[in-house]
Amino acid sequence: MGSHAMMNPLDPEEFRRQAHVVVDFLADYYLNIENYPVCSQVEPGYLTKTMPQSAPLQPEPIETILQDVQKHIIPGLTHWQSPGFFGYFQSNASTGNFLGEMLLTGFNSVGFNWLASPAATELEIVVMEWLLKLLQLPKSFSFSSDGGGVIHGSTCESFVCTLVAAREKKLSQREADLGKLVVYCSDQTHFSLQKGCRVVGISPNNVRSIQTKKSMNFQLSPDALLTAIESDVRAGLIPLYVCLTLGTTSTTAVDPLLALSEIAKRFLVWVHVDAAYAGSACICPEFRHFLDGVEGANSFSFNPHKWFLTTLDCCCLWVKDQSDLTKALSNDYELLKNKASDTKNVVDYKDWQIALSRRFRAMKLWMVIRSYGVTGLQEVIRKHVKLAKHFEALLIADKRFEVVVPRNFATVCFKVLAPNASNEDSKRLTETLLDSLNASGLVYMTHVVREGVYVIRVAIGATLTEEKHVRMLWDMVQEHTTHLLASFADIE
Ligand code: PLP
Repeated sequence: MGSHAMMNPLDPEEFRRQAHVVVDFLADYYLNIENYPVCSQVEPGYLTKTMPQSAPLQPEPIETILQDVQKHIIPGLTHWQSPGFFGYFQSNASTGNFLGEMLLTGFNSVGFNWLASPAATELEIVVMEWLLKLLQLPKSFSFSSDGGGVIHGSTCESFVCTLVAAREKKLSQREADLGKLVVYCSDQTHFSLQKGCRVVGISPNNVRSIQTKKSMNFQLSPDALLTAIESDVRAGLIPLYVCLTLGTTSTTAVDPLLALSEIAKRFLVWVHVDAAYAGSACICPEFRHFLDGVEGANSFSFNPHKWFLTTLDCCCLWVKDQSDLTKALSNDYELLKNKASDTKNVVDYKDWQIALSRRFRAMKLWMVIRSYGVTGLQEVIRKHVKLAKHFEALLIADKRFEVVVPRNFATVCFKVLAPNASNEDSKRLTETLLDSLNASGLVYMTHVVREGVYVIRVAIGATLTEEKHVRMLWDMVQEHTTHLLASFADIE
């Protein structure tokens, strides 16, 4: 590279050359991904100790930088795209997505209102309407009615925006003290709802986390919701918002949307349906029934960045009445004023989200949908569900394991059983099994504890996971359990 005066950070030919080098680097990463331990095995501080203390004064070539990525960064990565990744919920990716991400980053168009990038806004509307049809969401969520969809970065952001919309709507309807508003959820609801409540000024004392039971597969009970709401009303409080979940994080439970939203409606409570993980499955007709009752919701969201071949960050949110969102989130700033916005015939997405600036996320979602088509996306879901079903059947057939809750989608929850083992023994055995499987570096899973039961969660959904990887996992589960139970019997 020449002197500073000659440096052009956006030289098209340098961009072409360097981008090819990075694409080759990534293609090789994917070729070799199975050689890396799925969960990173570095110690805390490993990188800060190695990296120079100060930023380089002079420019460095891409080749040198990539050598450092290979040597220092890759060892500190947990390889979420590895076929042995069965942790949390997957964040699966695809070539179509990467190319879409390249385009949106390459354009770096900010798109806060229609004029700032008409294509960014209009493509988002197109994609959200495609998805609405694909999920068979009610027409009331469509731009052709009073509703509409927006792409947020995360479900947490969708929680905050819908909570603010519900809060402003309620406070505009009746004079009330913020301290009287109450939010309802279950003890299985994603913890980011609690954070969202704090952000919008709902006291933790006014968040009712209603207890669920294993005997009811951890669903939120309509009776329990009704009891909680009635008790708050009697106490002079104001029910505001209920979050229902389609596919809870711990065990993929599905709340009965219809019965719960009917109760909420009686008390003018805003209903949000969080389908972060399982929403993607509902593009297959055989899973669509899980969404029955969504018509009673005010808002619905799902994360393509989990199970839709789309990378972070991408959460699709629909609302039934777009003015609920825009009244709560719009601002009027001279710098942004323009004739198109003045007509009120355009969507200004800055009024549908927290931040002003926004990424052109519709580009990657559009690329994903076009690259694989509806049939390709359905095939991915069905493949993962089939693998999970098979894995579940193997566990059920082996007396050493218990499948703790029935599988709804592609996540299987199980624990180890042993003759004469107490609950405490079973917990210890299951935990030890998980640790030893993860220590192999070949697979990675995570756990939850529900009603005191320690459970291994196997979330099958990485793009590269094939039957042979699930077979390998099953072989490992059996082999490690055999050793474990032999030493347990010795101790006894
Ligand atoms: N809701 C559910 C059911 C989830 O499983 C998750 C994450 O796993 C979230 C919400 C949080 O999603 P995000 O990271 O997009 O905020």
